[in-house]
This record gives sequence, structure tokens and C-alpha cells, in this order.
Amino acid sequence: MLNSKNSFVKFIVVFMIFLLVFLSGFGTVRSGIEKERKKLEEYQSQLRQIRSNIVSVEQSSKQIGALLNSLNTQLNNLEIQIKTTQEKITYLSNEITNKEAQIKFKEEEIKARQSSLADTVTLSYELSKISPADVFYEGGDPNSVSKRIIYITYISNYTEKLLNQAINDKKELENYKKELNNSKSQYELVLNEKIEQENILKDELDMKNRLLESLKTKKTYLLYKENELEEEIKKEEQLIQKLIEEAKKKGIYTGTFIWPAKGPITSEFGMRFHPILHIWRLHDGIDIGIPTGTPIKASADGTVTYVGALSGYGNVVILSHMANFSTLYAHLKSAVVKKGQNVKQGQVIAYSDNTGWSTGPHLHFSIYKIDIETGKSTPVNPRDYLP
Ligand SMILES: [Zn+2]
Repeated sequence: MLNSKNSFVKFIVVFMIFLLVFLSGFGTVRSGIEKERKKLEEYQSQLRQIRSNIVSVEQSSKQIGALLNSLNTQLNNLEIQIKTTQEKITYLSNEITNKEAQIKFKEEEIKARQSSLADTVTLSYELSKISPADVFYEGGDPNSVSKRIIYITYISNYTEKLLNQAINDKKELENYKKELNNSKSQYELVLNEKIEQENILKDELDMKNRLLESLKTKKTYLLYKENELEEEIKKEEQLIQKLIEEAKKKGIYTGTFIWPAKGPITSEFGMRFHPILHIWRLHDGIDIGIPTGTPIKASADGTVTYVGALSGYGNVVILSHMANFSTLYAHLKSAVVKKGQNVKQGQVIAYSDNTGWSTGPHLHFSIYKIDIETGKSTPVNPRDYLP
């Protein structure tokens, strides 16, 4: 037990020395890149939001445009109907004026007939009073007087007939005028209704036009914002590219990490009571429960710096990711890579087992962050780096 503890301490010392190899003064470069990447993600999310807003503004504008078209068609139809109705009313007004003139003419005719009828009645009365002697005295023929009376009676009857006809005509004209007036009133009611509809439509059109106008303003603003963000994103991408190139020159890993194997997490990173050593200490990685023989993948591009047994970790593979990171894969069965070999992210480097201090088949996976300024190697929670 003491022996294995000693060799564990020895391992830690060797491991630390080995991690401190690529020291330089640019420890903040990676965190700088992470900060810029977060900024870029924020900008990209804002841009997506703005683009979706532009799409919805465009859809709304399209809908309102279609509605405006339909409202304009309705208004045009209504205006035609209003014009037709107004023309009808004008026609009826003229007809009524005509009828009024005709009625006046008839009234005059009636008056004239009435007076001529009165004249014949008087004349007939006067003639009836003349005695045959007077007729004789006047040198007339008594027969001719009676002939005149018959003639006057005939004239009187004829005049009365014409008078009655004129009175009937007048009545007919008045009835017709009344009908025209009724019809005109009905058209006026229809006209008022249509004018009311026209006003409602005009208000609606006005409102929708204003809405469309405000949507146009909104779209202009959104397009301006989109452009502004696209510029910011371009700048940010260029900055990140520059930082990555600078980091590469200085030997700093700026890439991502992936899960070396998929399985349930049986023990998280952090302080724990060690199941075998029975002491409280930091569990410097995470345990992934997987059956023996599961292929283990490189979490990131890197170089193999150690393959072999390492005390309580059993068989391990250690990868170095430039000057600022290294990863450890422990309790392995066998490695399929050699020291000094370059590996790609996702490449199989070993197969899992249960070697070293282990209570069951699993992979122990650690990520170590190296502060290039101080050379300090610190195990970090892999969850902060894994997708
Ligand atoms: Zn572990």
C-alpha cells in the first residue's frame, strides 16, 4: 500500500514536470479566444433573431398588401355603385322637374277650360232667357235661337269633357310624380348607406396603409441592424482567426474536445471519498461506465506523450494538445498508438478495461489545463470542455 502510494506521488511529480515542458507567457490567449467566440455566438444568435423578425415583417407586409388590394377593389366597386346611384337620383330629379312642369301646364289648361265652360254656361243661360218675341224683334229666326242653344250645349259638353280629361291627366301626372319621389327616396337611402360603407372602407384603408408604412420603417431598421451585425460578425471572425493563428505560432491549442467514449457517468469530477484508498481527495476526471474492450477515441488533435502503466490509473495513454492542454485515458486494456505519434480527434487510441485501482470496467478521463505563464497544470472538469 505504502509502495503504491509512493509510486503514485512519483507519478504526479513526473507528470507535472512533463506537463510543464512548453512554458511561455501567453496563458490568456485561449481564454481571449473563448471570450471572442462567446461574443461571436451572441452576435450570431442576435442575427438569427433579426432575420426571423425580417421574415415575419415581410409576411405581415405581404398579408396587409393583399388585404389593401382587396379593400381597394371593394372601394372601387363601391364608388362605381355610388356614381350609378347618384346618376339614377339625378335622372329621377329631372323626371320629377319635368312632371312638375307638365302638372303646371295641366293646371293652366284646367283653369282655361273651367273659364270657357263657365262662359258657355252663362251664354246658354242668357240665350234661354230670350223670348221668341225678342228674337223676332231682333229680326232673327226663332228656329235659329233654338239651333244656337243646341250648339252651345254641344260646345259646353265638349268643354266639360276636355276639362275632366285634363283633371284626370293632372291626377295621373301627380301619381307618377309621387312614384318618382318614392323611388328617389329609396335611391337616396341606398346612396347614404353606400357612402357610409365608403367611409368605413376609407378608414380601414387608411389604418392598413399606416400599418404598412410602420412595417416598412421597421424593416428598414431591421435591415440596418442586420447589416451592422454582419459587419460585427465579419470583424469578430477575422479577430478570432488572427488570435488562432497567433495561438498556433505560440503552440496553444484552440480547438474543441469530444467525448472519448459514450456511456453513463459513474463518477463526476470533484472531491470524493476514494472507494479504494478510503481518503478524501480530488477525483481529477470523470468515470464513464463502459464494457471492457470499448474503443477509446482521442478527445482532441494531439501527440502521444505516454503509453504504459501508471500506478493506480493502470494502463494509460496521455495525449498532449499543444502547450496548454493534455488529456489522460486510464484503466485501459491496451493502447493502439505509440509515444510520439500524432493523433487526430476521434481517432481510436486504445481499448478500455479495468486495470489499476478500479472497482469495475470504466474509462477514467482527465483534462489538464496548463497555465503557460506559471506552468501550473490543473485538472479541470471535463464537462466544461465537452459538448
Ligand atoms: Zn476516475
